[in-house]
Amino acid sequence: MNLDFSPEDQAFRAEVRAWMRDNVPQQVGPAIGIPSHKETQFAWERKLGAKGWLAYTWPKEYGGPGWTATQQYIFDTERALAGAPPCGPFGLSMLGPVLMRYGNEAQKQRYLPPIARGEEFWCQGYSEPGAGSDLASLKTRAIREGDHYIVNGQKIWTTQAHWADFIFCLVRTSNDGPKQKGISFLLIDMATPGIEIRPITTIDGHHHLNEVFLTDVRVPAENLVGEEGQGWTIAKYLLTHERTSIAGVADSYYQMGRLHEAVADDPVLSQDPVVTRRLATLEVDLMALEYTNLRTLDRVAKGQPPGSESSGLKIKGTELQQAISEAQMELGGLGALPWLSPAEDVHPVFAGATQRYNFLRASSIYGGTNEIQKNVLAKLLLQL
Ligand SMILES: Cc1cc2nc3c(=O)[nH]c(=O)nc-3n(C[C@H](O)[C@H](O)[C@H](O)COP(=O)(O)OP(=O)(O)OC[C@H]3O[C@@H](n4cnc5c(N)ncnc54)[C@H](O)[C@@H]3O)c2cc1C
Repeated sequence: MNLDFSPEDQAFRAEVRAWMRDNVPQQVGPAIGIPSHKETQFAWERKLGAKGWLAYTWPKEYGGPGWTATQQYIFDTERALAGAPPCGPFGLSMLGPVLMRYGNEAQKQRYLPPIARGEEFWCQGYSEPGAGSDLASLKTRAIREGDHYIVNGQKIWTTQAHWADFIFCLVRTSNDGPKQKGISFLLIDMATPGIEIRPITTIDGHHHLNEVFLTDVRVPAENLVGEEGQGWTIAKYLLTHERTSIAGVADSYYQMGRLHEAVADDPVLSQDPVVTRRLATLEVDLMALEYTNLRTLDRVAKGQPPGSESSGLKIKGTELQQAISEAQMELGGLGALPWLSPAEDVHPVFAGATQRYNFLRASSIYGGTNEIQKNVLAKLLLQL
């Protein structure tokens, strides 16, 4: 693997950096993981869409820029270092690749272009109260009646369902045979009668999550992706893409940079060797994760799937996000406690640290818990 960037890649980096400098709106602010202000986030995504850079991992034929894996990596790094949040992953890095591989021509034409322009927003309807890690136990039922499916059931932890125009759902179309065989993948318009969204407020104080109740929801049969009963294969394909993007190396570099700044600004912390050692350990772990990410990119660039390495990236990436936010919170001391109304001279990275820390507790849960990723690695890599 060649780790040097070519002159063309370096020129590309300069172009992206200049565009980010001129275009990242101040009020977008740094990401904590999930964007929490709808209008600013949507405006930012539409701006990227107008430039043709929103679906930055997609080929040209579907509305992406057709960049190489290295260019995608450079773009994401520059986006994060400019302090801009990642874009909503549900349409871009989950449904997009699924439709390109399993969707029919009509579905590709209808759904991919608005995602690439930032005009339609999606959410993910996988988890249910009795089906998380054991996803194949899902019970939401879809029964075929003529040219429609009638859907009944409940989804939970549905991120930004209250922002979304559509939801892609795993539904049960059969109870015969092994439970994985009876699952199908349906696209549902959130404006369809019978859908009720109830908010869930999380420990960071925000409303990102929801329960979604589906009662006699009529979904056109043409919204089935792939074959009836193929949903489990599609779901697994989608999850490898979800896990690679959850590693968040570029955003962790951004947060590390901010932590270095905050420590350098503080006359006590900047002289403390224990703090210096803590930052150095985090930095070394981050570099190791970056190289693993680059190795995966190299495989993808050679036409191979991300595979089980995406589980390793998910585990290490989220552990590191949690460790960085923990250091930000602990080193911030009282300044990191928002309810104490910190003095104005608290560095912003410390002032926002508790919220970020609280939110990131969830990163080792979403996208499949880290314990489950370890099971995946044990099975696929170690053949246990
Ligand atoms: C912030 C956030 C956003 C989310 N967004 C979405 C979304 O948009 N759409 C969606 O569909 N879902 C979403 N989820 C749900 C998420 O995918 C599930 O929470 C996750 O898969 C775990 O399922 P569960 O909550 O049912 O926990 P459980 O599966 O009940 O697990 C409980 C605990 O047991 C452990 N465990 C379970 N089985 C095993 C095993 N076989 N071996 C070892 N340990 C095991 C787990 O690791 C965990 O620690 C989100 C979750 C969070 C926290």
